[in-house]
Amino acid sequence: MNIAPDPKSMPQATLLSPEANQAAALASATGVLTVDLDAIVANWRKLEKTAVPAECAGVIKANAYGCGAEQVARALSAAGCKTFFVATLDEARVVRGAAPAAAIYVLDGFFQNTGEAYASIDCKPVIGDLNELAEWDVFCRRSGWSGGAAIHIDTGMNRLGMTVTEAQGIIPRITAGDHGITLVMSHLASAELLNNPANARQLTAFREIASLFSGVSKSLANSSGVFLGPQFQFDLARPGAALYGINPTPEADNPMQPVIALKARIVQIRDVERGDSVGYGGTWTARRPTRIAIISAGYADGYFRAASANDGTRGAEVVVAGKRCPIAGRISMDLTAVDVTDLERSAVRRGHWVTLIGDGITVDELAHHFGTIGYEVLTSLGKRYARIYKGGDVTAEPPAAPPAQPAAAST
Ligand SMILES: *Cc1c(COP(=O)(O)O)cnc(C)c1O
Repeated sequence: MNIAPDPKSMPQATLLSPEANQAAALASATGVLTVDLDAIVANWRKLEKTAVPAECAGVIKANAYGCGAEQVARALSAAGCKTFFVATLDEARVVRGAAPAAAIYVLDGFFQNTGEAYASIDCKPVIGDLNELAEWDVFCRRSGWSGGAAIHIDTGMNRLGMTVTEAQGIIPRITAGDHGITLVMSHLASAELLNNPANARQLTAFREIASLFSGVSKSLANSSGVFLGPQFQFDLARPGAALYGINPTPEADNPMQPVIALKARIVQIRDVERGDSVGYGGTWTARRPTRIAIISAGYADGYFRAASANDGTRGAEVVVAGKRCPIAGRISMDLTAVDVTDLERSAVRRGHWVTLIGDGITVDELAHHFGTIGYEVLTSLGKRYARIYKGGDVTAEPPAAPPAQPAAAST
């Protein structure tokens, strides 16, 4: 640590090296979320190779599935990703700041009076309705804006997108040229199930209608769609979840690298007697003299209460001192009790870090305990965690320089 000449006149931050600042932030943190940007980039490269010769975009809606849209956009841009998808204009604004040259598509589409915002950010609405298209056309005609838009066609999911018949009505415009449509796309409803017949039906429907959009780039596959075979790739793949380590092929091993690690601290350790209950409602009873570690994460941090352990139902597990330990009782707002009876007493200390995600505990495993999918685990990650970004192209970022694992995090 470098001590500046006159420490009393210096603000605290300038006294400390970035590493020391980081250490100070970590000392007060009760939870640390580490996002491995190199792993996200490696996952993107793998998806890109699988989708080739199609281009591979990055879907970074919902703050890049909770991983940080700004950091992810910057890292993926540096890796060569040229197209991003977000859900909202506010998200597009964040991505534009991090990826000045990228094409950005906004999935929720165009609303009246948002034209100026689209033009100022230079992003493109994904249009799924003929009235919406007409409103967009009015804006473009009046303003002279020609930034382009995507057409979303519904091929069976019945969520967003115009019908195939409605899309056919646009074909004369495509044939006439100068149409302002830069992408035609549809979305798969069941891509994670290899043999679901809906995939082939949607593929056929999309192939037929999209072929009429001659000269327009075409896109169908999400993460799981990338693994359905070459016929699903078209010109542009749109993976999201797989970038962040969620298994896009749940019927087989996960081809992606894990991206996040989540640690919390032991706040207190207590011994309870056989027959004592632990936590709200007393729903978990000690069957032996039991040592309990109370850790600093709960449902307010996105550690869902559904993963609680009660008499007769096992809950989630956390890794303490290198060993998996079961949760005891109900998960509360800020705290969770863990049964550490099987560990050496000396291996478990107040202040030690334990692992909620990582060290073999995957997002998908936790999702199973939460009664949901990995997507919801990631997008629910709490706001109280200190965030550490590893790797990627984050050197240009002013605050919170990444480095170093939390000193005590490995124990
Ligand atoms: C969210 C989304 C994606 C990405 O889906 P993943 O399953 O996360 O890969 C692609 N396309 C559309 C239209 C989406 O809404």
